[in-house]
Amino acid sequence: MKDWTALATDLYRGEHRQMFIDGKWCEAQSGKTLEARNPANGALLATVPQGDGADIDKAVAAARKAFEGPWSKFTPFERQALLLRIADKFEAEWETLCLSDTLDMGMPIQRTLANSRRVLGMLRFYAGQAVMIHGSTIPNSFPGEIYSSTVREPVGVVGAIIPWNAPIAGSVWKIAPAIATGCTVVLKPSEEASLTVLMIARLMQEAGLPDGVLNIVTGRGDEAGAALAAHPGVDKIVFTGSTATGQAIARAATGNLKRVSLELGGKSPVIVCKDADIDKAVPVAAMAVFANSGQICIAGSRLFVAREIHDEFLRRLADFANGLKIGHGVAADTDIGPIISARQAERIAGYLAAGPNEGAQVLAGGAKAEGPDLAGGHYIQPTVFGGVTDQMSVAREEIFGPVISALPFDTLDEVVTRANATPYGLAAGVFSTHLGTAHKLANRLKAGSVWVNMYHAIDPAVPFGGVKMSGYGREGGTEHMEEYLDTKAIWINAD
Ligand code: NAD
Repeated sequence: MKDWTALATDLYRGEHRQMFIDGKWCEAQSGKTLEARNPANGALLATVPQGDGADIDKAVAAARKAFEGPWSKFTPFERQALLLRIADKFEAEWETLCLSDTLDMGMPIQRTLANSRRVLGMLRFYAGQAVMIHGSTIPNSFPGEIYSSTVREPVGVVGAIIPWNAPIAGSVWKIAPAIATGCTVVLKPSEEASLTVLMIARLMQEAGLPDGVLNIVTGRGDEAGAALAAHPGVDKIVFTGSTATGQAIARAATGNLKRVSLELGGKSPVIVCKDADIDKAVPVAAMAVFANSGQICIAGSRLFVAREIHDEFLRRLADFANGLKIGHGVAADTDIGPIISARQAERIAGYLAAGPNEGAQVLAGGAKAEGPDLAGGHYIQPTVFGGVTDQMSVAREEIFGPVISALPFDTLDEVVTRANATPYGLAAGVFSTHLGTAHKLANRLKAGSVWVNMYHAIDPAVPFGGVKMSGYGREGGTEHMEEYLDTKAIWINAD
């Protein structure tokens, strides 16, 4: 087994890292900086520039210059070759990228490493898509020789804003389709986790990415993020983050009516039917929430269990939760890593108190995790609440922590109604060995993705996104390309 802790020591030593605009490494014009701390132990990893509106102006100008300049002359085949070179580069540096992410935001290293299919696959999938972009010749109703056709054009400068919970995948999923379509990007990572995104920019530059095609402005959401969302020089915003911020971004984008796609929060239901294979369903339903300490948008945090198997299922779920190992993300046997920040841990602790106060029973966990190995970090025990009702705050609100709220149900009609009774619609899970039941539930659940007898599957070739207040637009699949393309109609009078 690799000693990740030893490998991690040299990656960041409290030094300063610059941000990346027009192919050059630079400081914020204000000279201000932000600290990047390891959530596992509070250690200072590095400082980064605290970019704001002035830096966003500079980055947008660089992205516009590249979009209208040499980048526009790249053929689809050259963009394809670039994406493939980037994928090879990332593959060669994969362990360093993952280690950086684990240090910066806490995700257990085994889970970060397992993201290679999503990240390298994304780069290679969109390399394939780059040479498939084409319009059509369309017959029209005009008499004579009048021809009509369409061409697909890149939308322009894309502003990308991402959260802290999956920086590698979050950034690559926004950059790869931009390169495939010929757009340029200004990306603002989360102020909680910027370091790996800066590493990504360096690797892309080494792979031959032209200046200005990707620009990274590190900084706060209310400064750099808000400036990017409102910027008149940006043609499209792709955002992943909370629903409240998504709403603010959609409002800010109205100034120049830029296109917007939003991947937002969720309160996803998982339904365990009476005919479920319990042995298989328990670990999957548990990790549907506990993976990445519950800091995942698709966390299946409302667990509906058929009354016939409810007590046994919850007993086994609690045993599973109690067996999980809490620790630093760099320890290879860690199941539950730290929470990103003290603020986020306090938010979750508020729900740990609200559950029992509103009448839920604590079947596992229920408190912060503490101990000599966990000093300086913020850790929450994997928690299972039983006896939850639909009205309780733990059943209605996104907790973004390792907390399962379990609710019994009696009939399929009832559980569909209850599962859909949420403003969100990101994902849903179903466990059943009956094909008809699985189909019925998958059809009737209002969500962007439904997984049956599995959870968490996200693939570059399959569209992912939400409905209702979980956002609009899709990432992954050919649908994602549409988000970055405009259609132009061309008419020719040949008479
Ligand atoms: P957040 O909304 O607080 O921040 C996300 C990003 O937006 C950060 O880069 C932040 O700096 C920036 N931001 C904040 N205020 C802004 C503003 N006014 N204008 C422009 N940008 C602004 O979210 P978070 O706490 O970083 O992440 C957690 C949330 O993200 C959860 O709700 C989670 O469900 C959601 N999420 C969704 C998906 C998905 O694919 N649907 C994936 C991951 C996370």
